[in-house]
This record gives sequence, structure tokens and C-alpha cells, in this order.
Amino acid sequence: MTDFDVIIVGGGIAGASLGAEIAAARRTLIVEAETECGYHSTGRSAAFYLESYGGAQVARLSKASHDFLARPPGDFSEHGFLRPRGDLHVTRDDLPELPPAVETRVIERSELERMIPGIRPEWQRALFEPGCADIDVAALHSAYLRKFRRSGGTARCNARLTSASPRHGSWLVQLEDGTTLSTSILVDAGGAWADLVAAACGVSPLGILPKRRTMVQLRVGRSGLKDLPLVDDARGTFYFKGEGDRTVWLSPHDEIESDPCDVSPEEIDVATAIDRFESVVDWPVERVERSWAGLRSFAPDRLPVYGFDDEADGFFWCAGQGGFGIQTSPAAAKMAAALLLDEAPEPMVGNIDASIFSPRRFSA
Ligand SMILES: Cc1cc2nc3c(=O)[nH]c(=O)nc-3n(C[C@H](O)[C@H](O)[C@H](O)COP(=O)(O)OP(=O)(O)OC[C@H]3O[C@@H](n4cnc5c(N)ncnc54)[C@H](O)[C@@H]3O)c2cc1C
Repeated sequence: MTDFDVIIVGGGIAGASLGAEIAAARRTLIVEAETECGYHSTGRSAAFYLESYGGAQVARLSKASHDFLARPPGDFSEHGFLRPRGDLHVTRDDLPELPPAVETRVIERSELERMIPGIRPEWQRALFEPGCADIDVAALHSAYLRKFRRSGGTARCNARLTSASPRHGSWLVQLEDGTTLSTSILVDAGGAWADLVAAACGVSPLGILPKRRTMVQLRVGRSGLKDLPLVDDARGTFYFKGEGDRTVWLSPHDEIESDPCDVSPEEIDVATAIDRFESVVDWPVERVERSWAGLRSFAPDRLPVYGFDDEADGFFWCAGQGGFGIQTSPAAAKMAAALLLDEAPEPMVGNIDASIFSPRRFSA
């Protein structure tokens, strides 16, 4: 008999949401290296739901997650996690091509001026995506951890996996504090560390690359910003959204390869972000209130990876959630749980082909 049926490495949104879906059915432990779950990417996101983001396959996971995020079951949360905002994909020339199922509307210059007062004249048009919303990420992550614990799961922080090896059909897991635990299934939800976790378990890495993204909170000399739509460049060089009455969250849309680490923003990326922001609106920049960076991790084809490894028995991948790991988490966790438990998927993900996200696509 093993100590656990499933050990999940990583207590970010990926590990917490999958844990919440399986803990009632399997004795599950989450091991998190940091002092708190959610310290890395999950705690550093831009916190929006944008269905078109990440391409057509990711959009299906996002869409399938929408109703759960907007109106979660009462025993999961009394409140929804979305606050409607809308998104303007602004352009100086051509409108972007979005996945066809996403609801959009073309906005011409006169309407754009009304929606974003002070937008500079060269931004001619926009594609408006009304479904875009802010996500209360901290509440969602907490709700998943609460459901996980209520269903019998255990989460341990300060519990870094240092190695694991297969032993008689199960895994022997070594933690940094010297503890050894056995489990039938080992889940890699290590975010930026996913390939390193695999390597520490003797499993071939998939080529999951962490990429740094910078966020800046700016104070500007203009009020009434809080409820304006998210504004992003159709060519993908910036986005910003009102955070407070006179503050915005801004990103230069950077994507810089990085080793997995406790990443910080670089001055040059903060400066680039401000430069691009000033080319969009005439709102005077007063000061940088804070800045931060996080790692978004991508598989080689930029689709997330859910499923059992092709070669290592009982090693399950839950990784590569890129810049969409929060907004896809409800559907992705249900899909991954069905794969892990070898059960039929719930209706929410019944029409999504899980094989698209299988790690086996890389060995084909
Ligand atoms: C700036 C930025 C903006 C973003 N904006 C959005 C957005 O608007 N909407 C959206 O949906 N997504 C967004 N994302 C993406 C989203 O944040 C990620 O996809 C998601 O948080 C990934 O979750 P995760 O659980 O895989 O990773 P993480 O939250 O990083 O969790 C992985 C955990 O694994 C732990 N770990 C690693 N190795 C070990 C080990 N050996 N032992 C034990 N524990 C280990 C780490 O400590 C970490 O806590 C953004 C990301 C960034 C950086």
C-alpha cells in the first residue's frame, strides 16, 4: 500500500484545480516548494479572461470554463469570479483574425474615441471582444484549495520534490526535508519547473520553456479608468487595463526566455512598456507604483500538456499553461481529472478532444 494514490507537484492553479477534482476519489497530496501555494505564476497574472487568447484549441478550453467562472456551483463559491470588462484589440491598420467562434464587433474611430478618451489618432479601428472579463484569481485559487482540502486532500508547503524513482509499480518521492513518500501516480504541475521536475524523476523533458512577462502598475494624470475595456495591440506589443480610478496595469507583452526562478522585472522592459503606452493614449504618466514579472511556460507547440507520459508509467503531465492557465483552469482540471481517473469526462468538457493536449503528441 502506497502512502498516497496521487502526489501533485506544485500548488499553483494547475495543481490546486486538478487536486480539487480528484481528491474525493483518490488519496491526494499536493507538495509545494514555496511557503505558500500560488507564489509563482498564479500570483502574478494580469487576471483577465479573454476567450480569443491562445488560438482556437485553447479558446475551446476557455469557453468551456466560462460559465463555471461566471456562476460557480454554490458549494464551490457563493460568488462568481468574473467582472465584465470587454477588450479592444486596437490597430493602426488591419484588424486581427480571431478564432471564428469568438463574439466580436468592429469599432470605428469615432466610437473608439468615445470608449478610450485620449486615444491617439493613428489608432484607427478596433475589434471589440465583449466577453473579456477580470478574474478574481486569488478567490478562485483559494476556492480550489478549499475544495481540495474539504474532499480529503492534503497540501504541504515548504515541500520541494528533489527526486523520484519508479519502484515496483509505484513512485518513491524524495522531498528536500528528507521525507520519502510513495504514490501510485505522480503529477507534474510544476509550472516553469515542469521539465526540471520531470528530469528529477528520470522522465524525459518535453521542451517546456518558461518566458518572462512584465507587468507595471502606472499612476496617470487621468481619472475614470477603472471600468474602461482592456486595450491590446492587435499585433501583440502591449496591453493595459484600468485598475483604479487613475491607475492602469500595463504589459509590454514581453516573452523572454528565462530559467525557472523567482523572476523580477528588468528596467528596460518597464521602460518599453511605458514608451508603448504613451504611443497609444495621451494620459500623462505620473509614476510607476509597482512592477512585477512572472513566468509563462510553453510547450513547443504552445498548447498545454495533460495526460500520462508515454514512457514513464504513472507520471502525469499538467503543464505548459502559458498565458491562459487561470482562464482555462475549470475545464482543464475536469478534462485532466477524467484522464487521470480513467473516467468519462464531465459534460463541461465532453466535446473537447483531450488527445490534442496529450504529451504523446511529442513522441509521435
Ligand atoms: C504576467 C503574467 C500575466 C498572466 N496573465 C494571465 C491572465 O490574464 N489570464 C490567465 O488565464 N493566465 C495568465 N497568466 C498565466 C497564468 O498565470 C499561468 O498559466 C498559471 O498561473 C500557471 O499555473 P501553474 O500552477 O502551472 O504554475 P505556478 O503558479 O507557477 O505553480 C507551479 C508551482 O510548482 C511549484 N514547484 C516547482 N517545482 C517544484 C518542486 N520540485 N517541488 C514542489 N513544488 C514545485 C512552484 O513553487 C510553483 O508554486 C499570466 C502569467 C503571467 C506571468
